[in-house]
Amino acid sequence: RDSQLKKQGYLCAGCGRYVEKGYAYRFRYCEYTGKYFCRSCHSDKKSYLPSYIITKWDFSNKHSVSNFAFDYLNRIYKEAVFNINDLNSKLFQKSTKLKIMNELRCTLYFLRRYILTCRFAEETGYQQSLQTLPSYIYEHPHIYSLEDLFKTKSGELHKVFEPIVMKLRDHVLTCSLCFAKGYICEICNNDKTIIFPFNIQTTSTCSGL
Ligand SMILES: [Zn+2]
Ligand SMILES: [Zn+2]
Ligand SMILES: [Zn+2]
Repeated sequence: RDSQLKKQGYLCAGCGRYVEKGYAYRFRYCEYTGKYFCRSCHSDKKSYLPSYIITKWDFSNKHSVSNFAFDYLNRIYKEAVFNINDLNSKLFQKSTKLKIMNELRCTLYFLRRYILTCRFAEETGYQQSLQTLPSYIYEHPHIYSLEDLFKTKSGELHKVFEPIVMKLRDHVLTCSLCFAKGYICEICNNDKTIIFPFNIQTTSTCSGL
């Protein structure tokens, strides 16, 4: 406590108010910024910490934070700013739910190329059901908002995405226009097994995004 406070010159990291050394105990520590704040800038509100979620898949919301940090974390809750693949790709191994979510997102990413260019998919409303999702969901499969991560953990997001993936996959596999865009395996040249990049179990292009 003393060394961080000394570094701050016994000034509140929020309003800059000076506190006499003897009253230093009145400062409160903010777990988000790692700094000390006076009591008007820090009302001991509790929050989750993005770094705990992303490094440990730990969603506990009992961390004491400054008022500034509390408002900031609420404000960015819905913003899609966390690329899990860049920040901590090991997280996909830590949580099975996140791993399955990643597969759904990557499948949507590959499906979108067919769906968004198919005339039949447009006429039958399949394009629209993809586009009910925010575009980063299928354009940038590794990017998450904090809300996405919370809802991945609760299973809520899975319930939304899975039926859409099934529906779009069914379209592509049964649509003559989409099916014509599938690839024949270059290794075995067997035209009875048309390969689509969204069958990620057999093609595994997913990790190279
Ligand atoms: Zn202050
Ligand atoms: Zn189609
Ligand atoms: Zn093959």
